[in-house]
Amino acid sequence: MGVFDIIDVTGHEKVVYCHDKPSGLKAIIAIHNTVLGPALGGCRMYPYAKEEDAIEDVLRLSRGMTYKAAVAGLNLGGGKSVVIGDPKKIASEALFRALGRFINGLGGRYITAEDVGTSPKFMTWIREETDNVVGIPAYLGGSGDPSPVTAHGVFMGVKAGVKKRLGKDSLQGIKVAVEGVGNVGYNLCKELYEAGANLVVSDINTDAIQRVVKEFSATAVQGEDIYKAEVDVYAPCALGATVNDKTIPMLKCSVIAGAANNQLKDEIKHSAELEKRKILYSPDYVINAGGLINVYSEIAGGGAEHAWALTNDIYDTLSTIFDVAEKEKITTAAAAARMAEKRIADVGRLKGIYSEG
Ligand code: NAD
Repeated sequence: MGVFDIIDVTGHEKVVYCHDKPSGLKAIIAIHNTVLGPALGGCRMYPYAKEEDAIEDVLRLSRGMTYKAAVAGLNLGGGKSVVIGDPKKIASEALFRALGRFINGLGGRYITAEDVGTSPKFMTWIREETDNVVGIPAYLGGSGDPSPVTAHGVFMGVKAGVKKRLGKDSLQGIKVAVEGVGNVGYNLCKELYEAGANLVVSDINTDAIQRVVKEFSATAVQGEDIYKAEVDVYAPCALGATVNDKTIPMLKCSVIAGAANNQLKDEIKHSAELEKRKILYSPDYVINAGGLINVYSEIAGGGAEHAWALTNDIYDTLSTIFDVAEKEKITTAAAAARMAEKRIADVGRLKGIYSEG
């Protein structure tokens, strides 16, 4: 299948191949949709075995960014870039400055950021060549570490889920299983603990576990026991695809609300399965939008205060999604996609109204 055959279906606007032999740069930039604003999405660096894998990844991820930005209420479209290669072997100033020049050539239609395999340092190299980069370190005037903001969005999502499914405004005494207590998981545990929730946690890193056990009186479990825990909420904050054929029958929770990307192994099948079991699923790209909101504040202004205010809105956004799903008898994943598509259509239509200046 050729790229045009694929983007005919996915609706991408533009796919750019970037090549600079001396620095070893081989990158693909995919711009999915710019109706709401410039396409923003991170730059992933990975030693893809085949070029087709890189294309598949960049097309899938850029489309996801369109939905994420639209539901978060941001004036941003969806895009992504991938650099083919092992960051430990070929990342260099020249490579990322070359990418920066390609990004600059897109005239602001694509804005890049850090992602898996890239770092704030790489973003500073890109910034030498273009202003169209966010997620630069705080000491250079950037928004800094997104994890506390992402965690706060997840916390608001937990509250929205608990309100919808358990009818409670307070998290006092609510039991939450947090899988993965890294950057986001740790900050989430902190907010949950301060709100009076009881924590069950798991991580493959024993130091990370010890920290939350000590600081937040969490109960540590191992492996699959995190899915079997008698809790109200399961918060996946480690890897993707942890909600699957094997784990769903183990779950005792009534709400899933976590930070991980691509939580459902099969979005259609597993969102329907959760619905059948009366487990309320908070669509991942809605609840974990805090990271995107954090970097958006570098473009929109207003700094951390603006980012935190927009992140608070995740409560209302998810509550609407839950209500629409219930009313329309569709999954929460389908309700979220509908919300994104409606906003793009509504705002896109407005652009037909003549407005001078
Ligand atoms: P992180 O690497 O800091 O933390 C992940 C933690 O999960 C680590 O402590 C790791 O040891 C643990 N882990 C790995 N495999 C595990 C397993 N099998 N079982 C239990 N624990 C395991 O990452 P992070 O920045 O906290 O992000 C967490 C998740 O949220 C990721 O899926 C990420 O893509 C997603 N996310 C993060 C942000 C952000 O702002 N950092 C934004 C959006 C989405």
